[in-house]
Amino acid sequence: MQNRRKNERLIGAMGKHFPRTHAVAAGAASFALALVLFISPPEVEAKRTALPVTLSHAEVSTAESTRAPETETAETTSVMEGLRVVQETVRNGDTLSDLFQRAGVSSSEMYQLLSSGKEAKQLAKLVPGEELTFQIDGEGSLQTLELHRDRLSKVEFSRDNSDEYKYALHTREAERYTAFRQAEINSSLFVDGTKAGLSNNLIMEMADIFGSDIDFALDIRKGDKFSVVFDEEFIDGEKIGNGAIQAVSFTNQGKTFSAVRYIDRNGDVNYYTPDGKSMRKAFIRTPVDIGRISSHFNPRRLHPIFKTRRPHNGTDYAAPRGTPVYSAGDGRVVKAGYTKANGNYVFIQHGERYITRYLHLHKRHVKRGQRVKQRQVIGTVGATGYATGPHLHYEFLVDGRHRNPATIVRKLPKAKAVASSEMDRFLAQTQPLLAQLQRFEQPALAQNNEEKDSVN
Ligand SMILES: [Zn+2]
Repeated sequence: MQNRRKNERLIGAMGKHFPRTHAVAAGAASFALALVLFISPPEVEAKRTALPVTLSHAEVSTAESTRAPETETAETTSVMEGLRVVQETVRNGDTLSDLFQRAGVSSSEMYQLLSSGKEAKQLAKLVPGEELTFQIDGEGSLQTLELHRDRLSKVEFSRDNSDEYKYALHTREAERYTAFRQAEINSSLFVDGTKAGLSNNLIMEMADIFGSDIDFALDIRKGDKFSVVFDEEFIDGEKIGNGAIQAVSFTNQGKTFSAVRYIDRNGDVNYYTPDGKSMRKAFIRTPVDIGRISSHFNPRRLHPIFKTRRPHNGTDYAAPRGTPVYSAGDGRVVKAGYTKANGNYVFIQHGERYITRYLHLHKRHVKRGQRVKQRQVIGTVGATGYATGPHLHYEFLVDGRHRNPATIVRKLPKAKAVASSEMDRFLAQTQPLLAQLQRFEQPALAQNNEEKDSVN
C-alpha cells in the first residue's frame, strides 16, 4: 500500500509537464526519478491486482455442467451430485469458526479436520479475500474443503472411505501471451504510456531499463516514442497481471535505444543492448533514494566536530534514520563492523579496482564475506560514531585512492557485457524477441495485434 501511494504521488509529479527550466526542475525531478527507477518489480503488481472473489464451480468441482453465477458477495450455494456446495470468502476479522458456521458445518467437524494433519494448520492462518469451498453431504457432514489461496493454487482436504481427511495441493500455471504496446509522447511518459495501455509498473520498469542512458525527469520531449513487447498472464481467459518486459525500444530526441531481456547461464536476469552490452551502469549514482548532500567531497575541509583541517574523503547524504542504504554495485563485503569513529560501517569491494564505504549506519544488514548485488540493502542511515545527525558518509575508492562519489560514477564503465563465450546463447535467446518487436512496430501488424488483444 505504501508503495502504491508512493507511485501515485510520483505519477502526479511526473505526469504534469515537460520541464520548463532545468535548474528549477532538477532537485524535485531527480528525487522523483530515484523513485521512478526503483519501485517494486512487476511480480508485485501481479500480486496486488485485485482479483475477482469467486471462482467458477466448474473449475473446482468434478461436475462439468454446474457453473455458479459470478458474484461479488461472500457466499454462494449450489447443489451438485447430492452435495451442497458453499463458497465463502474470508472477511476481515473472520475466524475459521465463523466460516464453518456460515457454511452450516458443525464445529466438531471443524476440529476433526484441524486435527487431521499438519497441513490442516494452515486453515488457522487465513487472509481476507481467500476463498473456501465446502462440499457438504445430505447429513450436513463435510466431504471436501477447498482453500483457494490465489488463482494459481488450491489446497484440498477430502474425506476418504475410512472417514479421514486427505490433503492435496493443486497448482496451475498462468498462461502467458505476448503483448505489444507503442506510443508517441505528447504530454508525458505516464499520460501517454497509460493511454497506450501500459500499467504504471511497466512504465517504471521501462524507465529503469533506460535509466543510465535517458534522464526521464529532464530529457523527455514531445515526439519521443517507445514500443515494448512484454508478457501478459491469464487464468481462464482473464488477465491476472503482467510479466516482464522482453524487448523495448525508446526514441529520445531522435536517438533510438533498444534493450532486450536475457537470462544468463547463472540464471541472472538483466537487460542488454542487442549486441550484448549491459544497459546498466556498474554503479548507481547515489546509495540512498532520499536525502540531500549535506557535505561534499573535499580534501581540505574544516571538520565540524574537531574544528581542524581534515580531508572529507566522501560525500554525506543527510536522510532520516532508517532510510535504506544500497550497495552501489555488485560486489563482496570486505568489512562490516563498528568503530568509535565510523559507527556501524560496511566496506564493499567491487572487482579488482573499486571499493565503496558506508559509515554511521543505524543497522548493518550484511556480513563480512557476503556477496551483494547492486541495489541490495546493506544497512540503514543512522548517526552512529562521530556524526552530528543521521546521515550516510559514503566513500568511493579507485585503485586505493579516494574519488568524489558524486561525480566518479559518470566516468566509470557500464556493468559487464555478455561474456563472449556466452554470445551464441545470448543471440539465440534474444534475437527472436527483437525480431518480434520490429515486426510489431510495423503499423499494419501492430493493428492486427491490438485486435487479437481485445480477447480479454
Ligand atoms: Zn562524511
